Formats: sequence, structure tokens, C-alpha cells
Amino acid sequence: MTASEIRQQFLDFFASKGHHIVPSAPIVVKNDPTLLFTNAGMNQFKDYFLGNKTSAYARVADTQKCLRVSGKHNDLEEVGIDTYHHTMFEMLGNWSFGDYFKEEAIAWSWELLADIYKIPKDRLYVTVFEGDPKENLPKDEDAYNFWKRHIAEDRILLGNKKDNFWEMGDTGPCGPCSEIHVDCRPDAERQQVDGRTLVNADHPQVIEIWNNVFMQFNRLKNGSLEPLPAKHVDTGMGLERLVRVLQGKTSNYDTDLFMGTIHATEKLTGHTYKGTDEKRDVAFRVIADHLRAICFTIADGQLPSNTGAGYVIRRILRRAVRYYYSFLDAKKPLLHELVPVLAQQFAHVFPELQQQLDFVKKVVFEEENNFLRTLDSGIKRMEDVAKAASNKVVDGRAAFELYDTYGFPFDLTSLIATENGLTVDEKGFEAAMLEQKNRSRAATELDMGDWVVLDEVPATTFVGYELLENTTRVTKYRKI
Ligand code: ATP
Ligand code: MG
Ligand code: MG
Ligand code: MG
Repeated sequence: MTASEIRQQFLDFFASKGHHIVPSAPIVVKNDPTLLFTNAGMNQFKDYFLGNKTSAYARVADTQKCLRVSGKHNDLEEVGIDTYHHTMFEMLGNWSFGDYFKEEAIAWSWELLADIYKIPKDRLYVTVFEGDPKENLPKDEDAYNFWKRHIAEDRILLGNKKDNFWEMGDTGPCGPCSEIHVDCRPDAERQQVDGRTLVNADHPQVIEIWNNVFMQFNRLKNGSLEPLPAKHVDTGMGLERLVRVLQGKTSNYDTDLFMGTIHATEKLTGHTYKGTDEKRDVAFRVIADHLRAICFTIADGQLPSNTGAGYVIRRILRRAVRYYYSFLDAKKPLLHELVPVLAQQFAHVFPELQQQLDFVKKVVFEEENNFLRTLDSGIKRMEDVAKAASNKVVDGRAAFELYDTYGFPFDLTSLIATENGLTVDEKGFEAAMLEQKNRSRAATELDMGDWVVLDEVPATTFVGYELLENTTRVTKYRKI
């Protein structure tokens, strides 16, 4: 089955259970000071759970573009090193807003995985919240009992608050969750350790694929919990992991979601993925991963820049450039050549990329080109800086110079340092950054003294680049 068919089957299944299928929200979050990027399917429904709004549909399902590179969820360092954490991924989800609860959610997860997708039942495990007496949180007996109807008891594991209790924040909706894991180890290896049940952290081939959250409490300011008047279900399953399991692969990158761009990268660089060099293989994976994050975020309205969400994208892009430059011997812009391959692949599900193909390609090209201008001298400078590191710590000021003069984001310097067995003095970097900010603020104040603000055009919602002129805040100045 192709990834497209697998995605469609998920949506069709939940449509057949009375769910309304909605589009993915943009990956870029506007108007929420707590979040830069969508990092879970539930983000777009937050107001329903908080009771601020009512959904027109009690049951909803979708595939949501997510990005986990900042804030509470930051998987960037895992990407390319392991085979199942991505920066950008699709989270398939089904929701009940005050409608069905644990019994149906559990029965349907099982029906879909075991009967429709036909994952062998003896490869599935589930986890249930064990309770936390210190916090007065009960064990999730209901979920345990509903699971017992479908799966042998020795495959139901109890999990702690960290993994199996979800909270939106310090206050607000919360509740236990139940995760589903798949054991993808070869049969022979599974038998060797029989008797011991593994969950995802224990083995790279035992992976979490689906999380079912049951919102049943409201946490009050004083820390106590009260039952929610309406209970909700919020689930999330990583499409890339599901596809890997169903296509019988040992890595998400071996699925048809990634192989198209990996093959295109092979053609462009003349190197082979899964050749003899592990560093090269990591580079292939990082590029295939980062390309998606960059393209979908730009297509959703976030241009690379030097601040906020824009800088997150610039950092990811520069990281990808450094990987192809250093490990795939590509010295010219490469990512922009991969954009059409990706756009074509996703045209039927996220057409926004195909629709803005030329624009996205151009932005990516400009970014790559700019960074490549200073990359070589930056890398040479980095070599000197690494040699000069005392006690295996790279000087913070030198890291700042790499940032300021050569455009090396801090995490890139830190990544190269790690490759050389070094760390970077982050405090020293921040201090140097602050000093420079103070200097430029003083300079700006001097400049601004001669100018008055004439007119401010307020920002409106992003609807596409053709309207870009109308969407950015334009401040006009006139010299007096
Ligand atoms: P993990 O423990 O593997 O980091 P998680 O517990 O952080 O996953 P959830 O927040 O429960 O993940 O998200 C729901 C589902 O989304 C996961 O079960 C997984 O299938 C998928 N998922 C989460 N993070 C990623 C990621 N970085 N890349 C790909 N899929 C992911
Ligand atoms: Mg995680
Ligand atoms: Mg987890
Ligand atoms: Mg989870």
C-alpha cells in the first residue's frame, strides 16, 4: 500500500464512524503567543476543549502538518540519527468533542490497526495510565478494561504520569492517555527476549505510533482536579511511522514518503544512500527531512528571516545546506532542485506547495545561495576555533563571530562542535549577542531621532504570496 492509500484509509475509516474530515490547519500559527508552529493535531481545536467555542461537528478527523523543532517538543537533534523522529510530520487524528469516549476510541483504534491495516496482533502493545496517588490521580481502570476486550493482558503495560497523563498547561483540560506501540523487531530477535515487554525507548525497532488522550478533568488554579462536564477524545498517530510499519520497513526514510527526494538527491550528488559511509546516510536523511519542514512552512506563509518563526526556518535550512556541503560534496545550491519533487508528491494532499512552487523554489534558492557564500570560510574559521578550544569548550565569542560574520546559527556551531567532541559556551555566546544588540539599539535610537511615523498598515491573515504586499505590516517614515 502506498502512503497516500494509507492516509486515505485512515480518513475513510473515521468518516465511516461519523467523523467530519477537515483540512490540516497551517503549520505556521498566527495570533497565539504561546506557540510558533503547529506541533499536534489538537492545536487547531484548542478553543473547543477550553470551552471558548463550540464545534459544528462532534466528531472530526484529519491529517495535520506538524513541526517539532521549538518549545515543548523539539526533536531536531534526533532527526536523521534515529529513523522515526522528524522535524515536519503528518499527525493523523480523530476527535470527539463531548461525544464518544474511551470505549469507542479504543475499539476503533484496535479495529483500524488490527483488522483494517492488519498489523499482526502479537506485535502490538498498549500503555495505560497507572495512577499517581501523590497527585490524587486514579489509575485509568476504564481504559484498561476496554483494552482487555481486544488484547491479551500481558500486552497492556502501565505507564507513569510523564508518558501517560496529558495536560494542556498548568491549568485547564487534562486526562490520562493510552499509547499504542508496535514491535518491528525480526521474529528471531523477538523470541530471544521473550518474557520482557519493550516499549519505544528500549529498542529502535519498537516504536510508539498512536496516542489516545482522554480529556476528563479540568485542573484548577489551586492544582486540584474537577471532572469536565463534557469529556473529549484527542488522538494523534504519526503517518510516517504507520507507513513504515505497513510497508514492512526498518526506517521511515525507506518508505515512499521519503524515497522520492532521497533518489533525487542521489542523482544530484552522485552519491548513494545506504552506501558505506554512515555520515553520508545521515546527511541524506537530514536533507529529506528538513526539505519538508522548509517547504511546507514557507508555503504556509513563513519566510526565512532573522527573528522568531522565520529564524527557526532559516536555521533548519542552513543545517540542511551544511549537511550536503560537508557530507555529500555538493558545493552549489541543491535543495531548491528538490522542491518540485516534493511538491509533485504532495500535490493531491497539500496542494499549497505545488500552487506556490516557483515562489518557494526561489526563496529556497536565495537562502541557500546566500549561506553558501560564507559557508566555506565559516567552516575554515570553525576548524581554527575548534583547535583553539580549551577544555573541549568552544569560546562563546568565537561562536558569536561565526553567527554574526558567517551566518552560522548557534545550533549549527554546536552541531559541528559535537561532531568534534566539543561543546560550546552558550552563556558566552548569549552575552556577546546581547552586547551587540545593545550597540545596535543605541545606533537605531540615534537614527530614529530624525524620523516620524506617518502611517501603519495593520497585518492581516496570510492568504497566499500573491497578496504578500497587503499582509505585512508596512511602516512608512518621512524625514523631518
Ligand atoms: P515519541 O515518544 O516517539 O517522541 P511523542 O510521545 O512525543 O512521541 P505524541 O506527542 O504522543 O508523540 O504524538 C502523537 C504521535 O505523533 C506519536 O505517537 C508519533 O506517532 C507521532 N510523532 C510524535 N513526534 C514525532 C516526530 N518528531 N516525528 C514523527 N512522528 C512523530
Ligand atoms: Mg516526543
Ligand atoms: Mg512518547
Ligand atoms: Mg506520545
